[in-house]
Amino acid sequence: MEKEERQAKKAAEIEQSGKISMNRRQFMKMGAAATASGALMSVTGHAAPSKNLATKTASPSVSLGTKDNPLRITDKCKRMPQKNTIFSRQLWDFEFVQKVESSVDRTSLDELRKNKGWTGLDEALDEAAWAVDHKFASGSEGGQPHSMAYAWDEHVRRQKVTFKDAADASKKIKKAARYLGASLVGITDYNPLWTYSELIKEKFEGESGQEGPPKYEIFIPEFPFVPKSVVVMAVEMDYRTIALSPSSLEGAATGLGYSHMCEVGYSVATFIRALGYRAFANGNDVSLSVPYAIAAGLGELGRHGMLITREYGPRVRLVKVFTELELVPDPPKAFGVWEFCKNCKRCADACPSKAISDGEPTLEGNTISNNPGALKWYIDPEKCIQFWRENGSDCANCITACPYNKLATWPHRLSTSVAALPVAPLHSFLAQLDGQVGFGNIDNKKGNVSFWDED
Ligand code: SF4
Ligand code: SF4
Repeated sequence: MEKEERQAKKAAEIEQSGKISMNRRQFMKMGAAATASGALMSVTGHAAPSKNLATKTASPSVSLGTKDNPLRITDKCKRMPQKNTIFSRQLWDFEFVQKVESSVDRTSLDELRKNKGWTGLDEALDEAAWAVDHKFASGSEGGQPHSMAYAWDEHVRRQKVTFKDAADASKKIKKAARYLGASLVGITDYNPLWTYSELIKEKFEGESGQEGPPKYEIFIPEFPFVPKSVVVMAVEMDYRTIALSPSSLEGAATGLGYSHMCEVGYSVATFIRALGYRAFANGNDVSLSVPYAIAAGLGELGRHGMLITREYGPRVRLVKVFTELELVPDPPKAFGVWEFCKNCKRCADACPSKAISDGEPTLEGNTISNNPGALKWYIDPEKCIQFWRENGSDCANCITACPYNKLATWPHRLSTSVAALPVAPLHSFLAQLDGQVGFGNIDNKKGNVSFWDED
């Protein structure tokens, strides 16, 4: 039986029985919201409330993280095995799965759905928004490596297009990336530190794979070529519907982001292969996205563990293309996010599971899904995923609440410039003002309903 048929059959069984089991697809779909794009898998993992982490706070060994280089990496930062990411743990960490599953209460879930606008209409839009990802990159949101649109071994044209130099090639590739749908594009050198040390892939082996624990294989990533450059692209997610978090409409914004990732990543990789150079796209599989995006100058890391871009704040999804082509890296760009986050905790306040630290940056988190060694605010991905299960849908409260999450207009650009001034009281004032004038307010019950009546 084909994989999709098996998944559909399993979903039907679950629906009929009324039992919520930890189906990998469901688990990953929630994760995918990773709005916390996100949130859960991005950078070096998320981490925990930091009050009890004081002893782990900053050490003099922080080697990077200057005003101009927002990657604050120490020599303690090592490659992370993919099996430790929150989604992959479903394949083997049954104690954790059991703990999350036991938190789900079907009665309160049904009640919640009645009250908050998860109508059939909303769910249909959610499903449609995910459709391209599910059809052409099924499993990628949860980290299934080397598959479908994100496969490593697609055809490469024999005859090479040549360029004047690496700068010329970089310019053409960025132009093509924007044409093919990237909202933002940057280039950085390939860095093995951000590739998972081992990959984990679910195996589908016929009917016997239906019962019992999932089957998986673990393998060392050995690409068909040595990547030299990484084209990092951000795709904007819809402002209007992401603000309806948590709901199916917010899930639609996230799903559409994943579908666009797949489309843009595959298209740009195809463009480079059609130029005669080896390349493949990857999303949540294979490597971490946020460090690459920071290195490529797309933005900075926020307290909520996501990339904050100048243009859209954290309201983006990230896709990378690894290529053997030699390109010119862009410099990382800081614009005051680190200082601003120290004085703004709107995401931590808006997080229903208290997964976001309201304390100081640290060098490690409290779960195996955190990758230690970067100085940052670690979130707690276990708490986050638990909320998604309890909530029965995605969550993007941390994106919605972030003052950098705005439409890319001149007032937003101006306020981002003002926020870059290193004046702590100003940051607290701006964060409060943002909420008072009506931005970033979560729990918008009416918005779910009115969405369908708007032109
Ligand atoms: S607000 Fe909290 S629970 Fe919601 S996605 Fe962000 S970290 Fe997870
Ligand atoms: S909400 Fe505030 S503290 Fe959180 S990431 Fe955004 S700017 Fe930083």
